[in-house]
Amino acid sequence: MISSISVPIATIRASLPASVRLIAVTKQVPASVMRSAYAAGIRDFGENRIQEAASKQTELQDLSDITWHFIGNLQANKAKKALEQFRWIHSVDNLKLAQRLNQLAQQLGVHPLVCLQVKILPDPNKSGWSDPQQLLADLPALNQCKDLQIQGLMTIPPLGLDDAEILNVFNRTRELAKEIQEQNWSNIQMQHLSMGMSSDYQLAVQAGATMVRLGTILFGNR
Ligand SMILES: *Cc1c(COP(=O)(O)O)cnc(C)c1O
Repeated sequence: MISSISVPIATIRASLPASVRLIAVTKQVPASVMRSAYAAGIRDFGENRIQEAASKQTELQDLSDITWHFIGNLQANKAKKALEQFRWIHSVDNLKLAQRLNQLAQQLGVHPLVCLQVKILPDPNKSGWSDPQQLLADLPALNQCKDLQIQGLMTIPPLGLDDAEILNVFNRTRELAKEIQEQNWSNIQMQHLSMGMSSDYQLAVQAGATMVRLGTILFGNR
């Protein structure tokens, strides 16, 4: 069980450009430690399980300026809860899910901020649009999801790449976002790139990440 913050958050924060949003990924991190992270300045928390997040959100209710980010694989039957509990959903990984979220968002009267998760390289272990072409093909339908605020792309490189290959994945994600932005969709914005975890966030920042999702480097091994 993680019981403390391993690296001073201020050190990591200071190593990032001011424009990059630091999302503290707190799966398996108890609320007490999250409270310390909050005291150290963290306002963005990322969780990958709806239920685990719910209990910590209740415990941290008094910290009303937290922004909650859902970053995990989202099952359709948890979509409503995700919308109720999270401002951001980084892991919208297929059109059906986007359409389901849109329909529920309309019913709930919310306008979630979302990233579209895309695979730049094939990776059977990760979810996401299976490649850029698939995502491009779905843009007309995504543009119809008027109750979603589509903000950008999210990607996770496959395991086992060297630094140059990882950087290439991140650069290609940025280029894909630019290509989409240049198509001038009325309801799709591409100003955000959610990319970079503890092992590769420096490469992601180099490639233009606007949000990094850091767990291990802040809280130690899970
Ligand atoms: C766990 C997780 C992270 C954080 O990973 P670390 O390597 O611990 O920094 C980031 N993004 C997603 C989607 C995750 O599931």
